Amino acid sequence: MKAHDGMYIGGAWRPPAGTDTIEVVDPVDERVIGRVPAGTAADIDAAVHAARAALPGWAATPPAERGAVIGALRDVLAARREEIAETVTAELGTPLPFSRKVHADLPITVAGSYAELAATHTFEERVGNSTVLHERIGVVGAITPWNYPLHQIVAKVAPALAAGCTVVLKPAEDTPLVAQLFAEAVHEAGVPAGVFNLVTGLGVVAGQALAAHDGVDMVSFTGSTAVGRGIGATAGAAIKRVALELGGKSANVVLPSADLTKAVTVGVANVMSNSGQTCSAWTRMLVHASHYDEAVELAAATAAKYAERLGPLVNARQRDRVRGYIEKGIAEGARLVAGGPESPREKGYFVSPTVLADVTPGMTVAQEEIFGPVLSVLRYEDEEDALRIANGTVYGLAGAVWAADEAEAVAFARRMDTGQVDINGGRFNPRAPFGGYKQSGVGRELGAHGLAEYLQTKSLQF
Ligand code: NAD
Repeated sequence: MKAHDGMYIGGAWRPPAGTDTIEVVDPVDERVIGRVPAGTAADIDAAVHAARAALPGWAATPPAERGAVIGALRDVLAARREEIAETVTAELGTPLPFSRKVHADLPITVAGSYAELAATHTFEERVGNSTVLHERIGVVGAITPWNYPLHQIVAKVAPALAAGCTVVLKPAEDTPLVAQLFAEAVHEAGVPAGVFNLVTGLGVVAGQALAAHDGVDMVSFTGSTAVGRGIGATAGAAIKRVALELGGKSANVVLPSADLTKAVTVGVANVMSNSGQTCSAWTRMLVHASHYDEAVELAAATAAKYAERLGPLVNARQRDRVRGYIEKGIAEGARLVAGGPESPREKGYFVSPTVLADVTPGMTVAQEEIFGPVLSVLRYEDEEDALRIANGTVYGLAGAVWAADEAEAVAFARRMDTGQVDINGGRFNPRAPFGGYKQSGVGRELGAHGLAEYLQTKSLQF
């Protein structure tokens, strides 16, 4: 795999300040496929200076022109779709068709949406005798995870650029190659020098230096709640804007009137997608006592069909963590009905598609984010019980409700403490706000709401 040995700063690839590197590993066969530089505080400092220098010019560029540049970036990403898919498959391990359809196509769509939004968004409005200007926040430090590596980059960089901000990106250490490819695309698209900068490196070194840098006006972070808490504290102490997209433990609520087969098969597919490494996955399936046994049987049979299709987890640590959760679930009294903690292959970081039945709300597997192909099926007695269970975690990122009558499902969804709910299998909408209630985060990404995160207001009185 192609890997740069420098950082993309101020419109060019520059040698890193230090000599340490990070190995990139193919999770399917555990081979080292590349090496990237491990950035230090000095690299972050250089990148933030470049972003600050580029800020006045980019902020003064008319929004429609910024939109045209983002449109050019979208076109480069579209032209390099196959290369993006192959890169993500190599470093994340997802099967190539999924990498094409999701890891490449979704960020292309999102970039396209911001090319349009930059040109059409209301950056100025009249409020009585005032004109309210919606202005860029400034320099954004973006820190992203590995699970949807390019999507999470584009979901931050495209709205930030549309708003007139400049960016320093610190991507996840497991998936830096697609981030480097993105930097190449930025260059090819003619984004002015310094508007986007890339520093690869470890979270505790480069990530921390970026979040704490005085020259960064806003930190936009996607990752674990544990790291997000620290970043929120750092940003809070410096009175910086912060956006946090964190973990989830979403509920798939199957009401008694629902089409059970559809609710269960779509629910299992949702959890197995991306090998379960999806923050918004519906990892808790809630089924009424009257349909419980049937649902468990169907979930187990459906999960088993994913055994051959599932990619590995991203690394050995993640695989061991997920196996540990399966073991803990069994030890706490859950009934294993599909998969299990044993490794299904000799090489690679694979975990079998797993279903745990008889899970009760207090169990660890019902409370903590597992981030692997593991579904917990819980029983509820009535609707109030279902609501208590659905809302009974520290998270609130997503969820689903199924019922024969759409209005019945919507009435339940209105009472859920969560940022997104799919009604009877409603499709993902790349322009709908995405983000969490409670400890799932602060702020929203995607669409106009995602753009607003990177803006602040100034009122002129007349
Ligand atoms: P992580 O928190 O370990 O890492 C995320 C990013 O933060 C990486 O780039 C990492 O290098 C960096 N980082 C780590 N420690 C840091 C520190 N001390 N200071 C600054 N940066 C630091 O998370 P992960 O394991 O890479 O990703 C999985 C997590 O991300 C899951 O919990 C998942 O739910 C969450 N996630 C949330 C969303 C969402 O939109 N809500 C989307 C995807 C993933």
